Amino acid sequence: MRHLYIILGDQLDERLLRDLDAEHDAVWMAEVDSEATHVWCHKQRLLLFLSAMRHFRDGLTARGVDVRYRELSPRRRRGEPPDHARALTSDLREFQPEEIILTRPGDWRILKSLSEALDGSGLRWSLREEEDHFYASLEEFAQWAKGRKNLVLEHWYRHLRRREGILIEGGQPVGGAWNFDAANRKSFGKKGPPPIAPLPGHTWDDRTREVATLVEARYADHPGDLESFSLPVTRGEALTWAEHFIQHGLPRFGPHQDAMWGEDVVLWHSRLSAPLNLKLIHPRELVEAALKAHDEGRADIESVEGFIRQILGWREFIRGIYWTRMPEYAESNALECEDRRVPSFFWTGETDMSCVAASMRGLIRHGYVHHIHRLMVLGLFSQQLGVHPYRFHEWHMAMYLDAVDWVSLPNALGMSQFGDGGIVGSKPYAATGKYIKRMSNYCGACRYRPDEATGDQACPFTTLYWDFLDRHRDRLATNQRMTLQLKNVQRKDETTLEDIRARARWLRDRIDAEERI
Ligand code: SF4
Repeated sequence: MRHLYIILGDQLDERLLRDLDAEHDAVWMAEVDSEATHVWCHKQRLLLFLSAMRHFRDGLTARGVDVRYRELSPRRRRGEPPDHARALTSDLREFQPEEIILTRPGDWRILKSLSEALDGSGLRWSLREEEDHFYASLEEFAQWAKGRKNLVLEHWYRHLRRREGILIEGGQPVGGAWNFDAANRKSFGKKGPPPIAPLPGHTWDDRTREVATLVEARYADHPGDLESFSLPVTRGEALTWAEHFIQHGLPRFGPHQDAMWGEDVVLWHSRLSAPLNLKLIHPRELVEAALKAHDEGRADIESVEGFIRQILGWREFIRGIYWTRMPEYAESNALECEDRRVPSFFWTGETDMSCVAASMRGLIRHGYVHHIHRLMVLGLFSQQLGVHPYRFHEWHMAMYLDAVDWVSLPNALGMSQFGDGGIVGSKPYAATGKYIKRMSNYCGACRYRPDEATGDQACPFTTLYWDFLDRHRDRLATNQRMTLQLKNVQRKDETTLEDIRARARWLRDRIDAEERI
């Protein structure tokens, strides 16, 4: 064997094998138990990764590529290597390739363990970057970040837009502005959204069914169910989803991207983050399709810019933060939270809070809810309650189908929980239930009142908002973007604050005792 290419579950792109010679080279892929259990993974997350991996293997095998593939079986086998490093070490003793090629994994933990295993093998190996799947290299991000006091997403995004000439005319942004956030925060009002075209879904074939049987047998106690699984697991399906989004979702995406409504936790969001993160589809393909839709008058600038910002700005920024800050980043706990886990209803959805219950129903059913459910319902509740930021990230990794460590950690621990103290976002996303009331139809049917902070009907978000500001007022005092919010808490008299603290303690005690709130 000349070259052995390691392909992990989030590297399912044949372009990573562009120099593979089928006569002399082979591919190594492995399903390992540790990836299903290091967090308590949603069943659909397991189905997505394993079905996509097996489909990818089948495609390579059909082309005559020698794929050395380790499958998990429905029952644990004696002597089964529990993780990638031990599986690889065992296989390398037999294969003895001249060189091993590892593409940078999406998780610092896997990079470390595989690097150690490869060093220990005594064989020649090299690390490749998956630059095809990002606009910027890690070196470019590191260079850009060097010497900057604060890393601002907007500056990075403009840097890449200028460099790539995306939505730029005569050196100026198309539409006269770099972003259209102000136009993109509309709620639905009383009527709600118009009918929305259903997503293309997934065709359950023998491979997906065989993996479903494995997941049900081996990981029966994991959260979620498999029946409603509907994501792409092949590049062909991912391209169909992309086309569908450009035609049906993109034209409506921008103005209502922050709105929430009833049981529809997707609305006009693309759900393409999972196939993007598995590398079934390329970010440039999506950006180019969105630009074409704009050029042809099928989508306006607010929607197109808002979508491109997610890919060209946010995704690239998050990746740069992860790889330039790890491993210390994972230890960040700027608000000095106790080792508190997410509430039990973050797994079951059993709560009287309508907004949380609806978000959790969506999450259990689809392994997905759109960014405002994530950030301003589930993330906000967790932050204001005082969940440890890394615990929140672990839960996020477990429940969302699109979560891979490089993207989850800065998003969940950093932006959502302010665990990094302001590297990703410049302030905590603190808010009362009134924000949720404005952006959704949840509060009308809820037993709580969003404008009440104390008393039996007090909205837990509102109580915890004031309690959060009160608890962290010294720590946040130097953050200029918090000045107004902190002034408001300072205006409250001590008796009111005591009532809020007591109600917050009551909430925490009930949550800790796993009693319903
Ligand atoms: Fe959520 Fe509070 Fe509104 Fe109830 S009142 S739906 S808990 S924001």
